Amino acid sequence: MTQHFDFLAIGAGSGGIASANRAARHGKKAAVIEAKAIGGTCVNVGCVPKKAMWYAGQIADALYYAPDYGFNAPLQSFDWATLIKNREAYIERIHAAYQRGFTANDVTVIQGFAKFVNKNTVEVNGELYSADHIVIATGGRPSVPNIEGAEYGIDSDGFFALTEQPKSAAVVGAGYIAVELAGVLHALGTESHLLVRKEKPLRGFDEMLSDTLVEQMAKHGPTLHNHSVPTKVEKHDNGQLTVHLENGKTVGPVDTLIWAIGREPATDQINLEATGVETDERGFIPTDKYQNTNVDGIYAVGDNTGRVQLTPVAVAAGRRLCERLFNNKPYEHLDYENVATVVFSHPVIGTVGLSEQEAIEQYGEDQVKVYNSQFTALYQAITEDYRDPTRMKLVCVGKEEKIVGIHSIGFGSDELLQGFAVAMKMGATKADFDNTVAIHPTSAEEFVTM
Ligand code: FAD
Ligand code: NDP
Repeated sequence: MTQHFDFLAIGAGSGGIASANRAARHGKKAAVIEAKAIGGTCVNVGCVPKKAMWYAGQIADALYYAPDYGFNAPLQSFDWATLIKNREAYIERIHAAYQRGFTANDVTVIQGFAKFVNKNTVEVNGELYSADHIVIATGGRPSVPNIEGAEYGIDSDGFFALTEQPKSAAVVGAGYIAVELAGVLHALGTESHLLVRKEKPLRGFDEMLSDTLVEQMAKHGPTLHNHSVPTKVEKHDNGQLTVHLENGKTVGPVDTLIWAIGREPATDQINLEATGVETDERGFIPTDKYQNTNVDGIYAVGDNTGRVQLTPVAVAAGRRLCERLFNNKPYEHLDYENVATVVFSHPVIGTVGLSEQEAIEQYGEDQVKVYNSQFTALYQAITEDYRDPTRMKLVCVGKEEKIVGIHSIGFGSDELLQGFAVAMKMGATKADFDNTVAIHPTSAEEFVTM
């Protein structure tokens, strides 16, 4: 017998949970199907455990500053197992909170791996479930290169499963995950190497951000290896690994090797063929601005659409979809422009909108005016060894100096950006920023005093 729903989400990650709850709150009979743990990537092997470990790194940093603040608190030991235990206990509490939400909203949770049978029906563990509306919110998985010995490395999921701290590690990749994991490991005392295949990490970001990150890595670590393309991984008798590079050099031996070279969509094992839903050559599901796939009644949200791969984006797309479908808002959709984001690197980066380079390409050099600021955050200003620069940039266009890009690297850049992103989304100009009285003493005040 087939159980029928109004709305079915495949995947109980950020997008699936948000959309199923929203559908149910509009009175629809809704269900989510999850093959692994409720919460998906973000909660279990992404944002949440990463941020907990980044905070551990921040505490390690603070212990280095402590003597300059008059504390005698040397870093004597760090117990990885305690951090992991407390991190996982927190994740369990999140699971319980999600379950309470499902119960309150009357969302059915189906545990198992879903495959399409036809465009309205999926099969999970031999049971059939149909729905008028199905959202594919299956997310993605880490990519691993196709080279000899690649299987000796782990990916970001494997990183979060480590029960012991590696003494040494090599992280391969140049995006968010590579930079964040290499930074965390280094801050916690692992001898860490970051291997990027081109000239620097975070190439797609404003140059001020990536160049400052490289400068800070040179000063504090991790060790950055540019133009380093792995060709082979060699495993030694003691279990350690050496990474052989195209340029003839090697990195290692190290205890742990982490691949962080991007993620691929989890769309290849759900029998999409039975629905007629099209994917692009990489497996991502193209959607229109309303999250519609090419098949009526089937939608996609989140990482598997190949758009901005961030939790709040998946959540917002899922919620707006259900507002459109079930709350009489026919034009409700997510605007993917100007999504603010933070890279939890060391030092941390906050960024929204166009980089200087992108603004020049889009508007022409004569239309773009850039304001820069460099200073030492007061937090570090009184310390001996850590007087690192905080750098900020406003990218403005046109006579009215409309702000199209806001970029910050340095202490506090994570927490200061959200409000500025609101202002930018509302069309703020440089004059609006200048008209705002500063909050002193903060790092954020630099943006209104440039
Ligand atoms: P997911 O959250 O990946 O959820 C998909 C779910 O679908 C999974 O639980 C999966 O098991 C399930 N599934 C797949 N196929 C099936 C099937 N056939 N049947 C049943 N279930 C299925 N974003 C941020 O905004 N901030 C951060 O700090 C951040 N840090 C990150 C750190 C790491 C290491 C990683 C990997 C990602 C991070 N992200 C971060 C990105 C964020 O996690 C994703 O953008 C977000 O989780 C995407 O949500 P989603 O719903 O598309 O997919
Ligand atoms: P990204 O797409 O951010 O970065 C991967 C990078 O690795 C590429 O840009 C590329 O950089 C490099 N690369 C690609 N292929 C290879 C290869 N074969 N060998 C070596 N390097 C390679 O992917 P991530 O896996 O880091 O993260 C996935 C997404 O998850 C992010 O884009 C982000 O949206 C999200 N995320 C968000 C976080 C946050 O909000 N703080 C944290 C973590 C993830 P290049 O071309 O320069 O070599």
